[in-house]
Amino acid sequence: MHDPDALYRSVVATTPDAIVTMDDAGIIQFANPATGKLFGYSTAELQGMSLANLMPERFRAQHTAGLARYLATGTKRLDWSNLRLPGLHRDGHEISFSLSFGEYADGGRKIFTGIMRDISDIIRRENGLAFLLEASEVLTKSLDYESTLRSVAELATRSIADWAAVDLLDDGEIRRVAVAHPDPAKLQIARDLETKYPTDPASKTGIHHVIRTGERVVVPEIPAELLSSSAKDEEHLRLIQALDLKSYICVPLKLRDEVIGALTLVSSNPARHYTEEDADLASDLASRAAVAIDNARLFKQAEDARAAAEEANTAKSEFLAMMSHELRTPLNAISGYAELLEMGVRGEMTEEQLADVRSIQRSQAHLLSIINDMLNFAKLEAGKVLFSYVEVALDPLLGGLEELIRPQLLERKLDYEYRSHDPRITAELDGEKFQQVMLNLLSNAIKFTEPGGRIGLSWKIEGENVLVSVSDTGRGIPEDKLEPIFEPFVQVEQLRTRVAGGSGLGLAISRDIARAMGGDIGVESELGKGSTFTLKLPLRRSSEEVSSPVADSPP
Ligand code: ADP
Repeated sequence: MHDPDALYRSVVATTPDAIVTMDDAGIIQFANPATGKLFGYSTAELQGMSLANLMPERFRAQHTAGLARYLATGTKRLDWSNLRLPGLHRDGHEISFSLSFGEYADGGRKIFTGIMRDISDIIRRENGLAFLLEASEVLTKSLDYESTLRSVAELATRSIADWAAVDLLDDGEIRRVAVAHPDPAKLQIARDLETKYPTDPASKTGIHHVIRTGERVVVPEIPAELLSSSAKDEEHLRLIQALDLKSYICVPLKLRDEVIGALTLVSSNPARHYTEEDADLASDLASRAAVAIDNARLFKQAEDARAAAEEANTAKSEFLAMMSHELRTPLNAISGYAELLEMGVRGEMTEEQLADVRSIQRSQAHLLSIINDMLNFAKLEAGKVLFSYVEVALDPLLGGLEELIRPQLLERKLDYEYRSHDPRITAELDGEKFQQVMLNLLSNAIKFTEPGGRIGLSWKIEGENVLVSVSDTGRGIPEDKLEPIFEPFVQVEQLRTRVAGGSGLGLAISRDIARAMGGDIGVESELGKGSTFTLKLPLRRSSEEVSSPVADSPP
């Protein structure tokens, strides 16, 4: 025969969920074995006890008031299923459970039934994940890893630990970079302990061991005797006891199989015994921290290397500037004395002697122009060139260039065409530097175009910029040289160029000038057909550049 009572009794006795009933005065009428297990009491002890005793103090008044209100009004203010609540274990620690409850009448009195399921593990896991998420965010925020590690340690003491510390291996020495505890007095004790009684490197559970072996240590419950037996004297014992250490985890900080430090978590809560699962969480945190440290270190290395390269480059430019300046003095003397000889001041010269002196003069002039280019370039590279910006009408300036290059055009028998544009258009630039760049592009075009060829100059406005193009029907530039020709001393054909003259610095200087004015120079070319160099410059300077004194004055 089916016996429903026997069935219920068996279910209630064997279910892992806690089942209690309570009368309308809040007194427990019945509790199954699982309830006893959850709260640490025997079922007999629970019977007759106020249910409020199974809740943390802070919830009791609310519970009593809620019960009274329900009895008086009959309205539910809460959903009666799956409420997440904290409970109070007999030994004082809090547990988390979900509660569903119902009611029935027994002889005119209301009886409430409650089914509770322990969700402490779920809550712990949820908290762990939330912590990890928050810590990861902190870790990616800054490249100052020491302060980042301090923030992470502090974060740990708000959820998974009472104490947290990070130690890093620095040139073979272990250095504590972060230690956190919510109570500053305890923090001081930890520091005193560390300085007065440094951890024994031989200890099998200490940081040294973890860093040496790369293996983590989990101590679910630190035996009180262990603490007292490891104390070196009274003072040491007092400090250790004051720290209130109950459970402990130490995990290595590993980077590509190399141990770079350790993360330590300590609990002072007698109810929190660290498990392997907690250690997994700590290891996860440690590997994220190690990556953050690595990123910060790599960034710093790159920064240092960049600063060193910049310094070397500045030194090189300064040397070049100084040397070319020094070379100009004797070169001027050569020119002066050659002129004296040519004028016959030292006596009549033969035709042959005169021809030699003129050779000296030509070489002197060539050398001087190379040195001037070098000085110019070195000054630009060192950022020592002064730019003075004024509003310039573009058409007259560009139209006027023909006048300056006419002798070269005539000599090379080249056609020249300037395509003029709206004369009212102005741009804010350093007119002299702009002219210098244009003359360099034009004289290159002349130099590298055979007689009978054509040189063209045109310009247009595109958005916020002016684009000025110099085109020629010269021999063009091979594809693989289009970029290198802007580097200093790069010439496509050394021999040919020597005939044409030049230092190989013209384009490097021009591009530096263009970039200093916020623009750039580009080139398109077809071998045997010709080249077009285009200078692009912003019509107006940005407000940032206007307010920056560096753009206007030498450092
Ligand atoms: P330089 O003219 O003093 O040699 P540049 O830096 O002005 O130095 O030019 C570098 C090289 O680029 C030149 O030597 C030449 O080989 C190439 N180049 C520049 N402009 C032209 C051009 N318009 N046509 C062909 N080649 C050119």
